[in-house]
Amino acid sequence: MEQTQVLNGTPVVSGQAYGPAVWPGERPAYDPATAVPVPPEEREVETKRFTDAASAVAGRLRERASHSSGAAAEVLSATAGLAEDRGWVGAASALIGKGTAAPAAATAATEQFAAMFTKLGGLMAERVTDLNDVRDRVVAELLGVPEPGVPEPDEPSVLLADDLAPADTAGLDPVKIIALVTRLGGPTSHTAIIARQLGIPCVVAVAGLGVIAAGAAVLVDGTAGTLEVEPDEAAAVAAVEASRRAAAAMAEWQGPGQTADGRSISILANVADGTSARTATGHPVEGVGLFRTELAFLDRPDEPSVAEQTSLYREVLEAFPGQKVVIRTLDAGSDKPLKFVTPADEANPALGVRGNRIAIDHPEIRAAQLDAIAAAGVAIGTTPWVMAPMIASAAEAAEFAAQVRQRGMVAGVMVEVPAAAILAPSILAEVDFVSIGTNDLTQYTMAADRMSAELATLTDPWQPAVLALIGMVARAGLEADKPVGVCGEAAADPLLACVLVGMGVTSLSAAPAAAAAVGVRLAGVTVDQCRIAADAALATSDPAAARAAASAALQPT
Ligand code: PEP
Ligand code: MG
Repeated sequence: MEQTQVLNGTPVVSGQAYGPAVWPGERPAYDPATAVPVPPEEREVETKRFTDAASAVAGRLRERASHSSGAAAEVLSATAGLAEDRGWVGAASALIGKGTAAPAAATAATEQFAAMFTKLGGLMAERVTDLNDVRDRVVAELLGVPEPGVPEPDEPSVLLADDLAPADTAGLDPVKIIALVTRLGGPTSHTAIIARQLGIPCVVAVAGLGVIAAGAAVLVDGTAGTLEVEPDEAAAVAAVEASRRAAAAMAEWQGPGQTADGRSISILANVADGTSARTATGHPVEGVGLFRTELAFLDRPDEPSVAEQTSLYREVLEAFPGQKVVIRTLDAGSDKPLKFVTPADEANPALGVRGNRIAIDHPEIRAAQLDAIAAAGVAIGTTPWVMAPMIASAAEAAEFAAQVRQRGMVAGVMVEVPAAAILAPSILAEVDFVSIGTNDLTQYTMAADRMSAELATLTDPWQPAVLALIGMVARAGLEADKPVGVCGEAAADPLLACVLVGMGVTSLSAAPAAAAAVGVRLAGVTVDQCRIAADAALATSDPAAARAAASAALQPT
């Protein structure tokens, strides 16, 4: 039998799709080294030629934005904004003023800004793709060649690319483009955002993607993060059909979360404020597993009053009357600095005064927040569960728990730091529950910035070292007979959810839109199957093998 080739990447949107591969159209071939200097008397005209080209590109993108909605419209408007960015247009115009030809000036200005964005890292680094796309569009306009972009295939096809420019992905028709696969890009890239909005399977960071020829038949598995080239056609069609049936089951599923043999697993929502909590009630969730309180105060120059905080916490508690609501104290710092408490000059904020550590210098800020949470609970006659982020020691857990219990609430901590996972038994001895924040636990275990697109294979919660730490915490929870939740993005991955349950995790909290997929998957497996899947995943030494082992263990019998 002919050998099929399987490439591995980072799964972003689940589901399966099978079709011929297509690649985006050529970017304009332009070599700035061939540019002829512009004589002084022509520079004004050349500058106008450039600004006209940039405006034309921005205008076309805005026009497309006006016919789109949601994330697509936002992405198109943001890219149009880059084409008109004063800094970028100004840098290119300055170069033209010194005699550089317009296309060469656009290229050089882009390089300058791309270097700056890359240095800033995180979300800014991901904007380099957007900027390069704007450059290509403006250069194409200046050269009078067709604007680069995604083809309109005649039959439903799988779009492969190095990285997709947001303006390309924003206009995609999910009937024609049935899956997205990129060689670069992270789970937060624009490609990923648009794939989620379109609801088509997506895999990013696929090494070796370039070898796949246009027209080759490929099976994309957005759940496992794989791309199979020239698979057995009947098996591929059956896999797509099975994923369609799973999607239909998801639409029907109403909860509550439980395994096929009746073990209850709470499926909860991550929320940021009253509005998102009310929206979450439209999904099959049984409460809130993580209320990220800091998100409501990101723009605030000064500390919100106790009264203001009380009314915010009340709104969230009121959205889920009589149900579990876990409120996290301010996780200020690192990627979420709060002006009124985060130190401005830390050399390494991810390892700095972040999360519960703000109470070292500002115990009054944490005390005021706990007072506000307690007051909100009293006002509506419920007992909030309260947890602290970034706990690294049992002493910190004990100190926090005392503050929470003094106010009559249920005390817990997050396990996001490897030290807390390693010492889970002593941490659990101090609190009523723990919740594993797999986003940070992965970042700190793998020493890899969670926002970095380049490090997507490291910032994967299926990394065996991360699984091993989660396993330690879950085991400690079983021994202490205390709840262990997971509230990072790992809880949104249906396959991983089964592995977590097999380890002993008792609740799963993630973006509410993920609840049904997780619920359906759990409903189809027994606790024993989950245990076998967990052991199988823990016995592997890389994320792809862990996924494959878990998936094999969870096949219907
Ligand atoms: C986490 O780290 O997994 C978590 C849930 O917290 P946040 O994503 O807000 O840092
Ligand atoms: Mg965290």
